[in-house]
Amino acid sequence: MIREGKYGLKISGDGEIYSSVIQTGTEGSSTYIKLTPEGTLESYYDGKQNLGMWSGQNWGNIIFFYDGTQVGQLYTINDYDPVLGGTTKKLVIWGKSDGSIRLQGPGIELDSDYINLSGSSGAQINVRGKIVDNLVPYTHNTGYVGYSDQRWNSGYFNILRATNLSQGDTCFEETACPLCEKAFAPGDTIVLLVRHIDEDFLGSMCIPIHAGCQGIHKVLTREIQETEELYRFKEDGTVETYREPKFEEVEEQIYQIKEGYKLDKYTGQFKKKEVMARAEVPGIQEAVEFSPKKVVTKEEAMELVTVRRKKPVMKKITVELNAPAKAEPVDTADAPVR
Ligand SMILES: [Zn+2]
Repeated sequence: MIREGKYGLKISGDGEIYSSVIQTGTEGSSTYIKLTPEGTLESYYDGKQNLGMWSGQNWGNIIFFYDGTQVGQLYTINDYDPVLGGTTKKLVIWGKSDGSIRLQGPGIELDSDYINLSGSSGAQINVRGKIVDNLVPYTHNTGYVGYSDQRWNSGYFNILRATNLSQGDTCFEETACPLCEKAFAPGDTIVLLVRHIDEDFLGSMCIPIHAGCQGIHKVLTREIQETEELYRFKEDGTVETYREPKFEEVEEQIYQIKEGYKLDKYTGQFKKKEVMARAEVPGIQEAVEFSPKKVVTKEEAMELVTVRRKKPVMKKITVELNAPAKAEPVDTADAPVR
């Protein structure tokens, strides 16, 4: 039975149709989806194919077109696996045009224990965001950060622990001698004063002083990061204790620049980025400029947000240098070295 007021063909129960063209729309229409006797499913917009799939092989694929030109395929394959090794069955997203493949969404998750970003050493990976967690090599004592002829320009670390450090000119953060409190000047000769012995982690922690200031009596207070004892599993099956700088998780309110805004580092001005809106008309996807870049106030560009972050746990140490013979030492754990 066809519903009242409708014309057509209704097949129900065990009914079957073979070797027929089934097509949506009216006969002669240029926008339709068609099932063919050859076992293909084809979708057309305005006479040009935009989607296709077929049954003529033991692997599945769906082909995507843009304005009649093939742009990519989603298909399965059984071949060499550069990530896991051997021959495996895989799902492939194949971009066949000159454009890149975009994964777009409020969040993107790669859920895998083995991720191979590229097999070629000449490939480029552009990370504009921030690394949230640690950056750790696959195994101990392997890998490089840069090469002798391909150096990072600058590095900023709170603590840099290296077994061997080959350095050029030596620089210190201190700009004045803590004993005479006079600024260091070109031509000064300095010596290093051990201000703290960190037996667990950093060893002898030194600060520069004038070579002639060693005898001055002074009490110095400095902040250093606390360490804590942790456990780790080793490749030989044992568990060992080790010490690491201590951090605590804190919830903080910080200002950040809102999405869509930026600080122009050359002018110091806050700017609203130009907004490109994509037309959401079926069959048409083209970028159109919505609003141009403009200078805005700092108040408009920033927002206060609550973030959880790891913060170093600091402790104060006090060192008394060249104490008078009868005076009580402030902290006997920190011995001056002359
Ligand atoms: Zn001095």
